[in-house]
Amino acid sequence: MTEKKAVIILFGGSGDLAKRKLYPALFQLFVRGDLQEHFAVIGTARRPWSDEYYQEIVTAAVTNLPQATTKQVKAFASHFYYQSHDVTDSAHYVTLKTLAEKLDKQYDIGGNRIYYMAMAPEFFGVIAGHIKSENLLTPDGFNRLVIEKPFGHDHASAKELNDSISATFDENQIYRIDHYLGKEMVQGILALRFGNQILEPLWSKDYIDNIQITLAEAVGVEERAGYYESSGALRDMVQNHIMQLMAYLTMEKPDTFSPEVVHKVKDALFSSLHRYTPEEAAQNFIRAQYVSADVNGQTVNGYRQEDGVAEDSMTETFVAGKLLLDTPRWEGTPIYLRTGKRLTRKSTQVTVTFKPVANNIFATDGEPAAPNRLTIYVEPTQGYRLEINGKTLGQTFALSQESLDFRHDDASVAKAPEAYERLLLDVLRGDQTNFTRWAELDQSWQYVDVIRQAWDATKAMPTYAAGTMGPQASMDLLTDSGRDWAFKP
Ligand code: NAD
Repeated sequence: MTEKKAVIILFGGSGDLAKRKLYPALFQLFVRGDLQEHFAVIGTARRPWSDEYYQEIVTAAVTNLPQATTKQVKAFASHFYYQSHDVTDSAHYVTLKTLAEKLDKQYDIGGNRIYYMAMAPEFFGVIAGHIKSENLLTPDGFNRLVIEKPFGHDHASAKELNDSISATFDENQIYRIDHYLGKEMVQGILALRFGNQILEPLWSKDYIDNIQITLAEAVGVEERAGYYESSGALRDMVQNHIMQLMAYLTMEKPDTFSPEVVHKVKDALFSSLHRYTPEEAAQNFIRAQYVSADVNGQTVNGYRQEDGVAEDSMTETFVAGKLLLDTPRWEGTPIYLRTGKRLTRKSTQVTVTFKPVANNIFATDGEPAAPNRLTIYVEPTQGYRLEINGKTLGQTFALSQESLDFRHDDASVAKAPEAYERLLLDVLRGDQTNFTRWAELDQSWQYVDVIRQAWDATKAMPTYAAGTMGPQASMDLLTDSGRDWAFKP
């Protein structure tokens, strides 16, 4: 393994993301040897912390990880430095630059810089501007920007944000995080599709009846009401994670597995999203909000009763929709998606339902054979299930549906890298495959804006009982064409 070298400047070093995800991910990279001697992290935030105090924070964030030994934690934390920083103050960037240069020399890093924006999105443009005006970019080595979601609030704000960061960084220096793309089973979709002769030739409208994507959460809005009220399920889950899953499920096969070629086919896929008029969007995308109900013997609040949520809130906590693609491969094939809070149970899964065999010679009553179904379990369990038809035991030729089921075992899953660990290593390596590009966001925001526009035109907010899989309208989206949601917990 080659050791990676970089000064990582982390804007938002005292934040929740940094503590819960980034420090543990960097520590795993240290334990695995991807980071060794030649790296330093400068944490910045408003609070006036010392390096020692910051190192204690970092130590606390990693100390309980299974691989952590006291010696390793100490060695790891010694690479962390703190700079109290107001993102709007030019003078602070000059100090930051001087510190980065000093650490670069001290750790013999060679000019590599990663700027990680782990703070509120309203600051992203300001920080990028100062990185340029205060000359933080190094002439030698790489300069890479890592940027967290949400990437904008609608198309106009996403474009504005993109324009502001693009004034400092080129597209090939920008790593927009969608942590779903760091998940094992999301990356596994590509392996499944392009590594199997029994699937690859069948992956089209000719053999597939429909694709379903469900991202179900059992929890409510928890402490995130402030953010969620201005976001809602469409922006929080559909525009980014579901769109990315959809792209991996439907894009053309890249000629090679390289970032440029993968993004080329992905860009083409996003350009082929079938755009609805607002009237069509209102028919094909439904929203709803959860209301109080008894869940496992306990009464849970409805969304409008949650702390920080307006009594007349019009924020959706559930979305279901039917998406179409204008490509020869998928014309007319519905891609159903659904996501929501306070659903029956937490699960992210994809179901691909194949068309039934044309002529079921075993049926005595003309019934078609049950369709083959492939389910990809993304979380909480990770694996696949393929439903196939076999012969019922005995002296008949009736078909019965059997399942070939595979799940990664818990121990192997626990050892595999976390999404943030994978993605941070990709940034250090300079591999943009599993990051989103502006061309994709440009299309997906335009797509989502029409849905929002259609919803905003009505005053109605349908509801669903907490602990269920959403409103009846979500079922009707499929039953109207004789289909059904495959995942019915
Ligand atoms: P947070 O509020 O916990 O942390 C924000 C950080 O920014 C703090 O370190 C704070 O000191 C710093 N900060 C705020 N204003 C500042 C200023 N004017 N000058 C200097 N520093 C300032 O937020 P978070 O939950 O860590 O989220 C950070 C980013 O990551 C957000 O864009 C969020 O949407 C995204 N994100 C977070 C999570 C998560 O699990 N927390 C998940 C996905 C994406």
